[in-house]
Amino acid sequence: MLGLYLHIPFCAAICNYCNFNRGLFDAALKERYMAALLAEIASDGDGAAADTVYFGGGTPSLLEPAEVGALMDACARAWTLTADAEVTLEANPETVTQERLAGFRAAGVNRLSMGVQSFRDEELWRLSRLHSASRAVDAFRAARAAGFDNISLDLMMWLPQQSVADWLASVDALIALEPEHASLYLLEIYPNAPLGDAMARGRWSVAPDEDAADMYLTGLDRMDSAGYVQYEISNTARPGRQSRHNLKYWTDGEWLGLGCGAHSTRAGVRWRNASSTEAYISAVTGGQSTAVDRRVLSAEERLEDALFTALRLSNGIDVEAVKSRYGVDLWGRFGEALRPFVDQGILLYDGRAVRLTRGGMLIAHEIMTVFIR
Ligand code: SF4
Repeated sequence: MLGLYLHIPFCAAICNYCNFNRGLFDAALKERYMAALLAEIASDGDGAAADTVYFGGGTPSLLEPAEVGALMDACARAWTLTADAEVTLEANPETVTQERLAGFRAAGVNRLSMGVQSFRDEELWRLSRLHSASRAVDAFRAARAAGFDNISLDLMMWLPQQSVADWLASVDALIALEPEHASLYLLEIYPNAPLGDAMARGRWSVAPDEDAADMYLTGLDRMDSAGYVQYEISNTARPGRQSRHNLKYWTDGEWLGLGCGAHSTRAGVRWRNASSTEAYISAVTGGQSTAVDRRVLSAEERLEDALFTALRLSNGIDVEAVKSRYGVDLWGRFGEALRPFVDQGILLYDGRAVRLTRGGMLIAHEIMTVFIR
């Protein structure tokens, strides 16, 4: 089954840490982008079955519900959406009201992923977010009142001036709302991000590395105690409420990315669309291909990707599945290089699966290098 990803590259303001493909909202540009996106959907559709749709961004909740409805209708014409398709919309708290949320729900969205990042106002202010903690709580309640019974909240840890106790206060506030899913990320400060300058000006610092590790481990422990089950390095959910769309990325699945900068992987071929919004719109309106970097993955690349992504999962890499899909004896090939991590207690191998312990997830990138030939 395919997953469909639709990129909406507009934001009401640009957050000082952001490294995503996005730009400032512009109503005229949005009109042209919507037309291009609808045209790309119509031309790419081949009727194949799809069981997830994901509106990511940027800030997709800046779209009008009718626009989301038009995109959903176009997808339903272009592909065969299953009756139980998971349809996720990323939303920022300041963009939604109960009425708009009810509109998204009526348009076919059945899962919301809300970027909260912190439940402490001073942290939100340092990140230049447009919403307050109480606005995020109100948005969550409005989503429930609008009929959403599948909501994910994002939080970020290791924020400037954030202590372990501060972080846990946000985790507790999240748990109190009882969302079905939560994503807990470590903030990465990119070299050119304005946040770096803001930190220098404000003399803000981040907690030492060992505190970051403590935030990750204790945050997830609290989620465990509240009945959530971690299924990926940064993701935890109530049983049965994992993100079906994101699992496609981590389980060797197939997906089509529509819109500027969106990536696709299908039938062993990978490509991405032009990143710039204008370049994407002119390619579509000029009747040219939007795809750049299209290439057939080699068997080795497919294996490498499958191992990288499966190791992110709590279930780890299924040794038998790798053997039947790629004809590779995982432990025979990589066992010697993986053994030291097993001896350190950060990687587990029971003959059937290779998986990271939670401590191992903190240094997953180091362990993944074993798979690079
Ligand atoms: S709302 Fe999200 S995509 Fe937009 S600037 Fe902020 S972090 Fe980036």
